[in-house]
Amino acid sequence: MTDYKLLIGGELIDGDKTLDVINPATEDVFAQVSWASEAQANQAVAAAKKAFPAWAKTPIEHRRAKLLELADALAANADVLARLLTSEQGKPLPEAQGEVAWTEGYLRHYATLTPSSRVIQDDETCRIEARREPLGVVAGIVPWNFPLLVACWKLGPAVITGNTIIIKPAPTTPVATLKFGELCQKIFPAGVINIIADNNDLGPLLTSHPDIAKVTFTGSTATGKKIASSSADTLKRLTLELGGNDAAIVLDDVNVKETAQKIYGGAFMNGGQVCMAIKRAYVHETIYDDMCNELAAIADSAVVDDGFKQGTTQGPIQNRMQYDKVSAMIKQAGQDGTIIAGGTIPDMKGYFIRPTIVRDVKDGHQIVDEEQFGPVLPVISFSDIDDVISRANASDYGLGGSVWSPDITKACEIANRIESGTVWINQHVTIAPNVPMAGYKKSGIGVEQSQEGLDEFTQMKVLNIAK
Ligand code: NAD
Repeated sequence: MTDYKLLIGGELIDGDKTLDVINPATEDVFAQVSWASEAQANQAVAAAKKAFPAWAKTPIEHRRAKLLELADALAANADVLARLLTSEQGKPLPEAQGEVAWTEGYLRHYATLTPSSRVIQDDETCRIEARREPLGVVAGIVPWNFPLLVACWKLGPAVITGNTIIIKPAPTTPVATLKFGELCQKIFPAGVINIIADNNDLGPLLTSHPDIAKVTFTGSTATGKKIASSSADTLKRLTLELGGNDAAIVLDDVNVKETAQKIYGGAFMNGGQVCMAIKRAYVHETIYDDMCNELAAIADSAVVDDGFKQGTTQGPIQNRMQYDKVSAMIKQAGQDGTIIAGGTIPDMKGYFIRPTIVRDVKDGHQIVDEEQFGPVLPVISFSDIDDVISRANASDYGLGGSVWSPDITKACEIANRIESGTVWINQHVTIAPNVPMAGYKKSGIGVEQSQEGLDEFTQMKVLNIAK
């Protein structure tokens, strides 16, 4: 018996096994949750399959109302959910509250959407309509950096378009999502929303299951490739939001102090554990020293501590594996370049790493070429625009990027040549539910958010009537 149960077929049930969840700030087990067996995962798929025909036929106005009810319930339980997020994910409590509020806003937005349809031709010869219909059962597989927000990025578009869904959170952050399942259970018909937790063992079952029509996944590129392969046999629809190595290109005409603050925010939000964080900063040589010094001063002033302590600006890394990975990358970065802030592991329990700024590194160094997904930023000097654009583009990733200059025309010319799904100018990581989010190259397949993202949860159907 655990406090955090699976949601399968409208029932909150114990898992066949239990899973310990660690608070990354203390390294102590703070919760035990239900861990679904393969049989329970199959039950969840069967329940979603059974619920699909009626839900697909439910008028969209009714589905909108249910999603809004869920948003209300989320808001009413914001405090509990935010505290669970801080406990399992590590982020400072105000940021966890922000994640819950953000999630609510996304749900409210999805409730306003309608799948696109259009009349292609309507004359004396024929009427041709292109419509969109739901796909069936969707599997939503979620990472550990924004557990609730990303779960709802999948759940909201799936249910508004008439699909049913199985959400699977990451094994290190299932708690808030299972708690959220209690709210879904009270609001939605049985089987429309199912939530199962695992220990990294149930993904392949879902991604190869013949009764699942679509997989929407956010996580690493390595796992994305496995999903593409395991879903190939059943030709599932796929939306993959994967890793990134976003470059910020900072021109010589910026205000260094102001820009440093914004670059820091874009790189170290959520302790750098953001798919679209700035992961490499290319700074023009004439302002390179000043920018490095500013960034180091901001990093030095960060308060790295338990997310429940007032004043904490950066919590721990979410899990031991990522902590070890980032620690090893910082060690290597110290050999390749010069660490001018952080680089140290505070002498306390928990997966804490101080925000780290590394200068004098180059392309070819691990910290520049690979995604760190943690609180460390390499700052690289450049002198030539064409050269820096080709360096920014010389990556397997292409999620986001940014150009920084008060000269918007010049910045746009550079942005046009950056191979990434989003290019910001004088900002980074600004996202919204009505703005498409897509990745070039190995950063993903398909689109999330916006009308285009919504339509990925549907099947195109053409009605062609002879007159
Ligand atoms: P991950 O790929 O290890 O895990 C993500 C999810 O996939 C978890 O729920 C996990 O249990 C599940 N999973 C693991 N193996 C699976 C398999 N074989 N089949 C199906 N599911 C499987 O990623 P992570 O470590 O949780 O997250 C970090 C990575 O995710 C980073 O590389 C980051 O850039 C990326 N990420 C991308 C976005 C985005 O929107 N593009 C957002 C967050 C994280």
